[in-house]
Amino acid sequence: MIGRVHARGSKRSETRAPTNSRQFGGETPTKKACFCRPIIPFVPALELTDTYRRVHLSRRFLGEGKRMATSTAVPKIRIAGGSFLVESRRTEEVFTPEDFTEQHQLIGQTAEEFALNEIVPNAEKIEHKDFSVTRDLLKKAGELGLSSVEIPEAYGGLEMDKVTAAVIADHIAKYAGFATTWGGHTGIGTLPLVYFGTAEQKKKYLPRLAAGEIVGAYALSESTSGSDAMNIRARAELSKDGKHYILNGEKMWITNAGFADLFTVFAKVDGEKFTAFLVEKNFPGFSVGAEEHKMGIRGSSTCPIILNDCKVPADNLLGEIGKGHLIAFNILNIGRFKLGAMCVGGGRMSLGNAIAYAKQRKAFGKVIADFGLVREKIANMAVLLYVGESLVYRTVALMDAALSEVDKAATDAARQTLKAIEEYAVECSIIKVWGSEMIDYIVDETLQIYAGYGFVEEYPAERAYRDARINRIFEGTNEINRLIITGFLLKRAMSGQLPLMPAIKKLMEEVLSGPSAGEEIEGALSEERKLVAQAKKLGLFAAGAATEKYMLAIQDQQEIMGAIADITIETYAMETAVLRAQKIAESVSSSDRGEAAAALPIAMTRVYLSQAMEKVESAARKVISAVAEGDMLRTQLAILRRLAKYEPFNTIELRRQIAQKMIERGKYTLA
Ligand SMILES: Cc1cc2nc3c(=O)[nH]c(=O)nc-3n(C[C@H](O)[C@H](O)[C@H](O)COP(=O)(O)OP(=O)(O)OC[C@H]3O[C@@H](n4cnc5c(N)ncnc54)[C@H](O)[C@@H]3O)c2cc1C
Repeated sequence: MIGRVHARGSKRSETRAPTNSRQFGGETPTKKACFCRPIIPFVPALELTDTYRRVHLSRRFLGEGKRMATSTAVPKIRIAGGSFLVESRRTEEVFTPEDFTEQHQLIGQTAEEFALNEIVPNAEKIEHKDFSVTRDLLKKAGELGLSSVEIPEAYGGLEMDKVTAAVIADHIAKYAGFATTWGGHTGIGTLPLVYFGTAEQKKKYLPRLAAGEIVGAYALSESTSGSDAMNIRARAELSKDGKHYILNGEKMWITNAGFADLFTVFAKVDGEKFTAFLVEKNFPGFSVGAEEHKMGIRGSSTCPIILNDCKVPADNLLGEIGKGHLIAFNILNIGRFKLGAMCVGGGRMSLGNAIAYAKQRKAFGKVIADFGLVREKIANMAVLLYVGESLVYRTVALMDAALSEVDKAATDAARQTLKAIEEYAVECSIIKVWGSEMIDYIVDETLQIYAGYGFVEEYPAERAYRDARINRIFEGTNEINRLIITGFLLKRAMSGQLPLMPAIKKLMEEVLSGPSAGEEIEGALSEERKLVAQAKKLGLFAAGAATEKYMLAIQDQQEIMGAIADITIETYAMETAVLRAQKIAESVSSSDRGEAAAALPIAMTRVYLSQAMEKVESAARKVISAVAEGDMLRTQLAILRRLAKYEPFNTIELRRQIAQKMIERGKYTLA
């Protein structure tokens, strides 16, 4: 289907005069446009395909009320969060996009077609804040079942796995202005209720949220506390008759606030106990301030809210008094992997645009797609998308495996759910940081390929560049998430939950006993797996040196915490890339044929490993140089060099091969 989209787009471009179809195509060319402007790629309106029609008509993916077996391909092996640093994984333990079931693919296709047919053609209206269009689209998404996969069936949802939720987030993210709205509604706007609501609360709100009839929002931040979320000033007092909580305060930057109906609002009961409340927009004393004038995602609504003696029925208290932080932070964990999935989807769209433009724009008598430095950018973008997809789906499947063990009938089901989500806090933060920095790279390089035309509003690169920037800020800034990554790992290590300290001790003994031949690794991608093992050792080595010097006071050494986070992020990304390529190679019976079948993912993996290894080495060097001096520093740097040594890949040639494939196909592909 998508192949047809591109085929049609390119055919049209050959036969027509250059058009200026602006950001999202399909619009009438302007006069100015005919003035020798390059054709910009655009997404033609699609006809309803069989898939789309079938799904649309059935209103649900399931047909006769049957549950979909979407989780069958997800390995059910429980793997401890953060354990990737100290253990190696087998390919059968990881989930990759190649493991998607037919149903995952069907849903992905539905989300994609919905985005291309319904969202993208309306982008200009949404960008100018015609929120009636947004609300209609949220309803349509609800009708298609795209907004309810995480809602229990009993409350009008489809109750499917998190892989499905990620597949939708990935494929719906074609226009960030709407994707942010949809993400805010289905994620942080709805999930607090799914996980922490009482049966009555769920019955009252969830079916309408699932259908997109009402819209959800999440109000945690305040003008004086964003990252420092526990420091909110909003207060809640129980009324004398015990029937209401009276909320006072303000909230800032609330996504969907301009048109949302139900807000999860955090306030401190009696000024002390951090608590969540379900607040309807019509409750007395609740009002919404003016829209913020934003740099990007202008199609989304972002407003402050004001709580002025706001009367909230006591029944609308969500979860337990004083336990609101459990809601706030665990919901953000889920928000983070979804943000990563959306960054992958947005990045794919951007790369498609970059390739299409590069194939048409001429300079020095050639199309710019023929230039090595343009090809290098295309290859780099594709490599990042490959790693991004791999990271998102590996992690989400881990969460699914943990959530599948929750006894939903148990009285402590909510606590079990929380534990399962929290288990992968490190991985979710990695996806958030990595994904948001990945998309910033992609939109930046896309803009560079468009060059002058990238800098003007009529072309898609400019908006994508602005839209992407927020991802490093919300759902916890990347600084805060880096601190979470290292802080969480160290906390687990100190409590003995994660055998990090024994692994560091073993490594120290190994490196101090002098050079060794190292671990023997055999089979497919053995060199690449060796490199991952080396990166892990570098991470352990740096963490060991830092913890030895600072012990628990390492928490105050933010730059070191940040560098250890960077090593951790890259190590997870490297291993994930290798495991996916290895799994593809192993899926073909003969190992020679396997590696040939996996040539593209292997090439991408090698390029990624090369750049990641440089980052790992540099971050480890930064840590060592900060914690050691004199002879000790020299010894440690010698060890570092030994651990970082490897025979480099010919990344120029690999990037050429990758770019060639992407340009031929006109989009990101592994085929
Ligand atoms: C478009 C948009 C939509 C949003 N949507 C929502 C929403 O729906 N609901 C909601 O509740 N909030 C929302 N937010 C708020 C968002 O979550 C916050 O902006 C974010 O958490 C950062 O808080 P802040 O802006 O107050 O920055 P600050 O916390 O003031 O941080 C400023 C800088 O200092 C750094 N910093 C802060 N603390 C530390 C530390 N301890 N160590 C090191 N560095 C630190 C930060 O990383 C950042 O670089 C939204 C914001 C925007 C812009």
